[in-house]
Formats: sequence, C-alpha cells, structure tokens
Amino acid sequence: MPIGELKASAFSATPSTRLNRRSFLRRTMAGLGTSAVLSMPAVRSVEAATLRKTRTVYRLSSHGRRVCSACKANDAHRFYLNADSANKGRAHLGCNCGIVTQNLPSRIWACYFRGGKVAVFDDRWGNPRCPPA
Ligand SMILES: [Zn+2]
Repeated sequence: MPIGELKASAFSATPSTRLNRRSFLRRTMAGLGTSAVLSMPAVRSVEAATLRKTRTVYRLSSHGRRVCSACKANDAHRFYLNADSANKGRAHLGCNCGIVTQNLPSRIWACYFRGGKVAVFDDRWGNPRCPPA
C-alpha cells in the first residue's frame, strides 16, 4: 500500500469536512439573521412608539384646594388641548382650579382631540372608540 495515497486521502478529507461545517454554520447564521431582521426590530420599534410617543394635555386640578362639586366633576373628566382651553373651560366663573399637565399616549390624544381639531374632551360625553387613558 503506497503511503503517499493514504496521506493524500487524509488531506482531502479534512478540508472538505471543514468546508461542510463552515457552510453549515454560515447557513445557520444566515437563517437566524434573516428571522432576526424580520421580527425583532419591528417588535422593538412598535413597543418604543407605544412607550415613548406621548402628547401633553392640560387639565384643571382641584388638588389641595377647596372647590365645589361642579369643579371636581369637571376636573375629573375633562382634557384640554392647551392651557388656554383649560382656562376657558372652567366649570364656572371664579373657579380657581390649577392648570396641570398630563402626558397621554399619542393614539389616545389623537382620539380625544380628533388629531387636534377639537380643544376639549370630556369622557362623560362617551366615545367608545377612545381607549381609557
Ligand atoms: Zn374649579
């Protein structure tokens, strides 16, 4: 048996095994890469949008004040587009409720104010399409 032939076959076997293993790994990585590109960033961006995208709304607050029941009801249910609307939307003349801000998720803000077309939202009016804040 010629030794030269044996060595040659041993040499030829080793690189082909390595190649197969490498191409298998490459295929596996490519598979993982594809599914990661398709799913992960999309999920993350949706979550980030939901968490971060908020709009500031203005509300009247009776916190720390002695106010009438009309004020309390008004304060509890109304959301204003801006401070001016909040000031004009008081329950009665002489109302001294404070104007405070609150951050609402953008999709709720858009629903309450119809994208900014209306300045006041009152959850007593009933709008089943708007999710609770
Ligand atoms: Zn008031």
